[in-house]
Amino acid sequence: MEYLDDLLKRFPETPEHIVIKADVLRRGVNFNLRLEDLAMRSCTTGLSTKDGRQGVEAPGQFHFGTDNTTVDILVDQDSPYEIVEKNPADYRLMIGERDLGEIHFTPRPGYYGLETSDGRQCTDYVVQRGPNCLLVTPLNSCAFFRKGDACRFCALSAVMDHELREKRLPMVPNYEILAEAVAIASEHIELREIKLNGGSVYHVTKEAEYNKKCAEHILSTAGSIEEVTVFSQALDEDGQKQLKDVGVTNVFFDMEAWDEHLWEQIVPGKAKTVGRAEWLRRLETAVGIFGRGHVACNFVAGFESAPFLQGCLSHEESLRSYLEGFRWLTERGIVPSFTVWVPLTDRRLSPKTEYFLTLAEELHKMLLEHDMYPDLGFPELGVDPPTLGLYCYYCRSMQFAQDYPRLIGRD
Ligand code: SF4
Repeated sequence: MEYLDDLLKRFPETPEHIVIKADVLRRGVNFNLRLEDLAMRSCTTGLSTKDGRQGVEAPGQFHFGTDNTTVDILVDQDSPYEIVEKNPADYRLMIGERDLGEIHFTPRPGYYGLETSDGRQCTDYVVQRGPNCLLVTPLNSCAFFRKGDACRFCALSAVMDHELREKRLPMVPNYEILAEAVAIASEHIELREIKLNGGSVYHVTKEAEYNKKCAEHILSTAGSIEEVTVFSQALDEDGQKQLKDVGVTNVFFDMEAWDEHLWEQIVPGKAKTVGRAEWLRRLETAVGIFGRGHVACNFVAGFESAPFLQGCLSHEESLRSYLEGFRWLTERGIVPSFTVWVPLTDRRLSPKTEYFLTLAEELHKMLLEHDMYPDLGFPELGVDPPTLGLYCYYCRSMQFAQDYPRLIGRD
């Protein structure tokens, strides 16, 4: 509690829910048995719970009752944060004896338990993020993993490889069935956004094709969807145009790290397929195709100072590095974003919460300086964005920068 109080004092301009969220993302939520009951009534397909719960069912996220600020639940028995049921169905986030406010959960959607025509569960194909958004995987494997080129922070590629070996899902899903799962889910939720995020392949043009086919099938089966966001390697101009032509509205070409000397070490696969200089060129090209506010680049914040990297940076140096990257991108109309790096093996390797709050505060200032919030769907500050897309506040896993424009200046 003292640590949280200290953070609140150090960041007086930052809305309290942002400070709490940043700290909860880094330190997790203490598991208690009630979470399992809760999970039976909630949406559980959050990415954070998938990776971190070790067989324990928990709701994917909680939402603060007063302003809907949404926080991923990463279960951690050592966390000082706890979810308690004070009165029947009155859930609270607590730290020690202090009540941090009423919270609720996305209800378990009606498509849970329903099957697609191949006899699989719909939830095998769709991951729900918040009430309006589904994430699907166009490629259930990352080629970088088997060749020893996986991004150094990535736990997902190993999980995907394991599932592939177990023959849970084919490497390239049948997109007709995947689209069927989306269509079934859309009968039970108000679907406004689809995110496509899967593994990578060495032939980047192939990766563009997989994403294109997947988006095409979904859009022809599930009808019009406000936003379609693709997370992929930096595609060439032709690949970008193909996505745009089938209805993709946003792209994330994630560099993950900025420092030139560490880049190859952190993302060896991406360094082989596209390379850092070309990656940057393709991000700039994408702004011309998708528009300002529709092109983003994510970083795994803190990882450049991971002590097991050769030539790792100090925390101060890595902060400067990420901010240099944010500046380069915002000056060109590209939206930087970052994930709070929380290594599942040893959380102490991650920088402390003030590190992430400093990054987010500086990012917020840069977005203001370059007048990018209107491009991100904010007519003014202090309101929830009427569109989803890059700054949706429900579905950004392990991120909180998207809450600044909606919470600063809010009544
Ligand atoms: S490209 Fe994506 S899935 Fe593959 S190793 Fe990197 S982060 Fe993991």
